[in-house]
Amino acid sequence: MKLSNASRELIRSRLADEIGRIDKQAPHRIALAYPSPYAVGMSSLGYQSIYRIIQAMPGVMCERVFLPDGADRAGTTEIEVPVSYESLRPLGDFPIIAFSVAYELEIAGMIRMLDEARVPLLVEDRREGDPIVIAGGPLTFSNPVPMMPFADVVIQGEAEEVTPWAIEVIHQASTRDAALDNLAAHPHINVPIKNGYEPRNPAACDLALLPAISAIRTPHTELSNMFLIEAERGCSRECKYCVMRRTTNGGMRLVSAETILSSIPEDVMKVGLVGAAVSDHPKITHIVNELADRGLGVGLSSLRPDRLKEPFIEALCRGGYRTLTTALDGTSERMRQMVVRRGYEKHYVNAAELARKYKMKRLKLYLMVGLPEEDDSDIDECVEFVSGLSKIVPIALGVAPFCAKRKTPLDGYAYAGVDVVSKRLDRLRKGLKGRADVRSTSAKWAWVEYVLAQGGAREGRAMIEAVQAGGRFADYRKAFAPLGYSVHGAQQAGGSASPRKLPLLSGS
Ligand code: SF4
Repeated sequence: MKLSNASRELIRSRLADEIGRIDKQAPHRIALAYPSPYAVGMSSLGYQSIYRIIQAMPGVMCERVFLPDGADRAGTTEIEVPVSYESLRPLGDFPIIAFSVAYELEIAGMIRMLDEARVPLLVEDRREGDPIVIAGGPLTFSNPVPMMPFADVVIQGEAEEVTPWAIEVIHQASTRDAALDNLAAHPHINVPIKNGYEPRNPAACDLALLPAISAIRTPHTELSNMFLIEAERGCSRECKYCVMRRTTNGGMRLVSAETILSSIPEDVMKVGLVGAAVSDHPKITHIVNELADRGLGVGLSSLRPDRLKEPFIEALCRGGYRTLTTALDGTSERMRQMVVRRGYEKHYVNAAELARKYKMKRLKLYLMVGLPEEDDSDIDECVEFVSGLSKIVPIALGVAPFCAKRKTPLDGYAYAGVDVVSKRLDRLRKGLKGRADVRSTSAKWAWVEYVLAQGGAREGRAMIEAVQAGGRFADYRKAFAPLGYSVHGAQQAGGSASPRKLPLLSGS
């Protein structure tokens, strides 16, 4: 579908509101694509960081292309042609298209964008002259295989060093095939047509390249005009469900407080400190206080419950933090111990009391439902505990159904089932009615995420049918059914009826 005048105007107005864009002209153009709409893509520090890196390459420039607004809505069968924000050039006209993919359901956006751009969807159908499609991003730390049928090149892990190298290799090669041959030899790059679908180990970049820093500020994201900077990378902890746990990329790498504080431009009003476990930074209270002293607003991407000590909360309050957010993770102490979460009831009670003392609006808790061996008694324990917390401070619960991820100790565990998860969510909502604001992601879409988190190339290919049919849940259910998937519980990836048994309360 052609680009409408309304979309042209929207792009123009968004560009006018941006601060920090690196306008550049160079002979080699790359489309830096994000498979979700502008507001999501521009909130991604990883996407912004790669934008900055490509713009620093001699002779190379990138233009940003996003999934058109609304094209991620279920039931969409036709979208406007994706074009670059910088020149309105159609996506299919770029010789290199580099996607940053955060999580499984975004593969649908990638399929939609390539399809509408008239790029052959499957790598085996592409020929000389077709764009070379590169994919990278957070999804490559766990299971990038379902997107491999659509990506000529998958850069696994931290892409700061590998991306410029890959772009150089493509520019120097005489043919498409020669470029892919050369790229396939890299230890952190997978070229499915050359290497097959076996993922490679994620790259870890040189510490000297940290921190990632956002390039462009815009009011048109949830993080409106916030300057993003990485305070640390990776995590030293071992939560059993988490892809970013210690073993993934060698643990936590810190950015010094001095580097963080000296990297913030003078015209910034709000600073977002980003990282898998920012509150584990040993200087975090000092950093937040320094930012507050400058009169800046502060946002943190994650707070660990055992780190919520009073001086830190006081600093957050000075930085304008109004919703204290942390993860409850399991519905009961038993579940939290099972996932090796170092959060105990005493930590959450302490957090609620400090939130009240510092006049925060509420305590927000993230929670997983449907962990292995969970039952209704765990939900009831959660209702009782959260009801108690709600007497101290208003509580909001952000609930997500558990989906086992590759490269974690819970890899291979079955999804609890759409029916089971829906019932538990209902039980939780009813039990907390009037006491906590409970919001959850859908049990149905979590099932789709589960299939893709555990699946391979055939699950990726099956997405084509689902996306082209409109991308509703029923379309995915129909597309995955011939592969042996059922939306009911006790079913492992690929249809096996015997899920793994979990040794409860064991170590990592
Ligand atoms: S959930 Fe958070 S604390 Fe736990 S391993 Fe992952 S990043 Fe670290």
